[in-house]
Amino acid sequence: IASQDARETRSTCPYCGVGCGVIIRTEGSTIVDVRGDPEHPANFGRLCTKGSTLHLTAAPHVAAQSRLLHPMRRARRGAAAAAIGWDEALATLSDRLVDTVRAHGPDAVGLYISGQLLTEDYYVFNKLAKGLLGTNNVDTNSRLCMSSAVSGYKATLGADAPPTCYDDFADADLVFITGSNLAWAHPILCRRLEDAKAARPSQKWIVVDPRKTETAAMADLHLQILPGSDIALYHGLLHLMLWDGLTDAAFVRAHTSGFEALRDRVRECTPRETARATGLREEDIVTAARWWGGSAAVLSLYCMGLNQSAQGTANNGSLINLHLATGQIGRPGAGPFSLTGQPNAMGGREVGGLANLLSAHRDLGDPAHRAEVAALWGVDDVPATPGKTAIEMFEAAADGEIRLLWIACTNPAQSMPDQATVRRALERAEFVVLQEAFATTATAPFADLLLPASTWGEKSGSVTNSERRISRVRPAVRAAGEARDDWRIVVDVARRIERQLRPGRVSLFPYDDAESVWNEHRATTRGRDLDITGLSYALLERDGPQQWPFPAGATRGLARLYADGRFPTPDGRARFFDIAARPPAEPRDARFPFSLTTGRLRDQWHGMSRTGTLGRLYGDVHGPAIDLCAQDMARLNLAEGELVRVTSRRGELVLPARRGDAQASAQAFIAMHWGEESLTGRGDGVAPFAGINALTTPASCPQARQPELKHCAVRIARA
Ligand code: SF4
Repeated sequence: IASQDARETRSTCPYCGVGCGVIIRTEGSTIVDVRGDPEHPANFGRLCTKGSTLHLTAAPHVAAQSRLLHPMRRARRGAAAAAIGWDEALATLSDRLVDTVRAHGPDAVGLYISGQLLTEDYYVFNKLAKGLLGTNNVDTNSRLCMSSAVSGYKATLGADAPPTCYDDFADADLVFITGSNLAWAHPILCRRLEDAKAARPSQKWIVVDPRKTETAAMADLHLQILPGSDIALYHGLLHLMLWDGLTDAAFVRAHTSGFEALRDRVRECTPRETARATGLREEDIVTAARWWGGSAAVLSLYCMGLNQSAQGTANNGSLINLHLATGQIGRPGAGPFSLTGQPNAMGGREVGGLANLLSAHRDLGDPAHRAEVAALWGVDDVPATPGKTAIEMFEAAADGEIRLLWIACTNPAQSMPDQATVRRALERAEFVVLQEAFATTATAPFADLLLPASTWGEKSGSVTNSERRISRVRPAVRAAGEARDDWRIVVDVARRIERQLRPGRVSLFPYDDAESVWNEHRATTRGRDLDITGLSYALLERDGPQQWPFPAGATRGLARLYADGRFPTPDGRARFFDIAARPPAEPRDARFPFSLTTGRLRDQWHGMSRTGTLGRLYGDVHGPAIDLCAQDMARLNLAEGELVRVTSRRGELVLPARRGDAQASAQAFIAMHWGEESLTGRGDGVAPFAGINALTTPASCPQARQPELKHCAVRIARA
C-alpha cells in the first residue's frame, strides 16, 4: 500500500505461456502501471514489451473504444446489436440451449472456448457441456495451439506432462530449439536462456527453423530445414547417433519399449538421404548429431513449428525419440520441453476442457474414467460419443448439424484456418453467442447475443504455465461496464438450465466464487498424475506459484518428472514413436509454387484485440506484409512495398511485398496476427475479408486434430 487510494496487486500476465508474474498498480479504480514481479519464479521481475504495456491496454479511453460493456442482442442478422439487461441475456441463452437440446439433441450444441480462460472458467464450461447438457462438443482454441504436444507426450511418456522446468535452462549443455522463434514468441524465456549461456559459455544452441529468425541468429548452429521436414531430420540424427555409438543402450533397455522397430526404420535415414529430405548440408546434420550425442545434458524447446502440423503428434513423438534413445530425460538440464503458446492452455487440459478429455487428465474414451467423473460430479453418466474438435465443430455448424454455437474468449472468424468454412458456419448456425471482453473482434458481427466478460486486471482465478506452475490471477479493479466473470456467466446459465432439465434436484453448480470452483477441481485430481489436492488458494497466497503435482501434505511441487526412470504407462516404460517421415499436407506444386509459413511478431498477440489498441506496439512492424527473399522479389519483378495477390486453394489476399532475408527461395512468410481490418482479402464470396486464415488449410493431425497452420501452398503475383 503506497497511499490511501493507491494499491498494488500481484497477478499474472495474460498473454503467453511463460506465465510471468506482474504487479498491478492502481489509483482509485484505474490501473496506472504494471511491472514484473521480482518474486515470481517464471520471470523474476522481467517483462517483455507486451507484458510491460498491459496497463496501457486497460486505460479508460482505450477500454471505451475496445471493450464490450453491456449484454447485447441482435433482432436479426446484420442488424445493429442493442443493449439488453443481464436477466434477459441469461434467460435468452438458457432457453435457446434447452430448446435446442430438446428439439435436436445435445450434440446440436457446440461450445468453443479458449486457452486464455482461467482454469476455473474452463472447469465450469466443461462441466456444463459434459455434466449438464450431455454433449462432449466442447473444444477450445488450444486445439490450434498445443493438442499435438498433448498427444505426443501421451503416446511416448504416457501422460500429458512436460517433464522439465525453467531451471533446466541453466543445467543444459545443449539446447535444441525446434519450431520456436523463442526470442519473439517467449521473450522472457529467451532472456533466461541468454543468462544461462552467459553463466555457462560452453552451452551450445542448435536452432531448427525454415527461417533465419531472431532466435536462429543467436544459435551456434542453425539448421534451416525445408518446411515440414522435421521428422526426416530427427530420424537422420538418430541414424547417426546409432552409427556413432552415441545412444544410451542401458537406458533404452531398462526404461523404454519399441526401440527395435524405430531402429530398423532409421537404418535408411543416412546423412545423404536426410540432406535430400531436409535441404540441409550433410556436414551440419553430422555436427548436430555429434553435439547431441556428446552432450551430458540436452534440453529441447519446441512450440508451434512442431504442433501446428498435420503430423503434429509424429513431430513431437519423433523428437522425444531422440531424448529416449540417448537417456536425455529426468535429469537436470535434460528433457523435451513443449513451450505453451497461450497463458492457460495447460490449465484447460488439466480440467479436461477438450472434446476428447475429462477432468484431471482422464480420457473420454475410457469407460472407467467416464464413470469416475460422473461420480465426482454427481450425474448419472458422462456421454461416451466423442465431441467435435475445433475444425470439426465449425464444419458441423456449416453443415447444419450444430445449430447453436457458444463462443467464449476467442475469435474464430479470424484465428481458425479456412475462413470460408468458418464464416459459413457462423452464418448458418441458428444462434451464435459470443462471450467476450472485446467488442471489436471479427466474430462479434456474427453473434446474435453478446455477453460482456471481465478480463485481465478484473478477474480472479488461476493459470498454469509451460513448466506446470500454477499462479493466481487476481483482480485489481472492478470489471468494466456490466462485464461479469466468465465462470459466473456459465454458472448463472447452468442454474437456469437446471430449473428446466433437473427441476427440484441439487444444483451441480453450487459455487459462490472462483475459489469454490477451484476446490472442486483440485478434488477431482486426487490420485492422478497432476494431483493438486494440496494446492489451496491459501497456500498459493502464502507460498506463491507452485508446480504440479502437489498432493495433500506436500510442501512443494515437483520440478522435474521421471527422475526414477518410471513412466506413467501400463508397463512403466516410455514408448518410442515409430513413424515414417511425410511431406506437408499441401506440398507446393506448379500451380501453387510457394510454401507459406506463418508465425508471431514480437510485439503483437494473437488477433490483436488487446495489443492492437496501442500505437507503440506497431513500432517494430507497422502493418501486414508478405516477406519474400530478394531472389524471389526479383524473379517476380517486385519492388519493396508493391501490392501482391497471394492465392491458396481456399482464398486470396492482397498485401504489400517486403524483402525479408529470413526466407529461403520459394518460401514466404506472413505474421499470423493480421485480420480483416488490416488485410485486403477475399474468401469464396461468403465474406469480403478474412485475414491470413483465408489462405491456411484445415488439414489436421490424425491423432491431435490440430490444423496445419504453419504451412500451405500459395501462388504470388503482382496485384
Ligand atoms: Fe507476458 Fe509472455 Fe511477455 Fe512474460 S513473456 S511478459 S508472459 S507476453
